[in-house]
Amino acid sequence: MLDSEQWRSLVIAGSQTLCPACRSTNLTIGACAIGSMTVHQEYVCEDCQHEFTALFALTGCYEGHTEQ
Ligand SMILES: [Zn+2]
Repeated sequence: MLDSEQWRSLVIAGSQTLCPACRSTNLTIGACAIGSMTVHQEYVCEDCQHEFTALFALTGCYEGHTEQ
C-alpha cells in the first residue's frame, strides 16, 4: 500500500490517478465534495475494489471556465 506522499508522487509523475493499493488505473470516479479550500474526490479501484479519496488543495483561480 502506497502512503499519501508516495501516491502523490506517482500520480504527478504519470499525470494519471492510480490505486494506492495495486497501482491500477482502472478506477471508477465517485462522489466529489467541494469545500472552499479543498476538494475530496472518491475513487473505487475496479481491479482490487479498494476505496480511497484523493484530496485536492486550492492553488489559484483564472478567468472564465474550462472549455468542455
Ligand atoms: Zn486497486
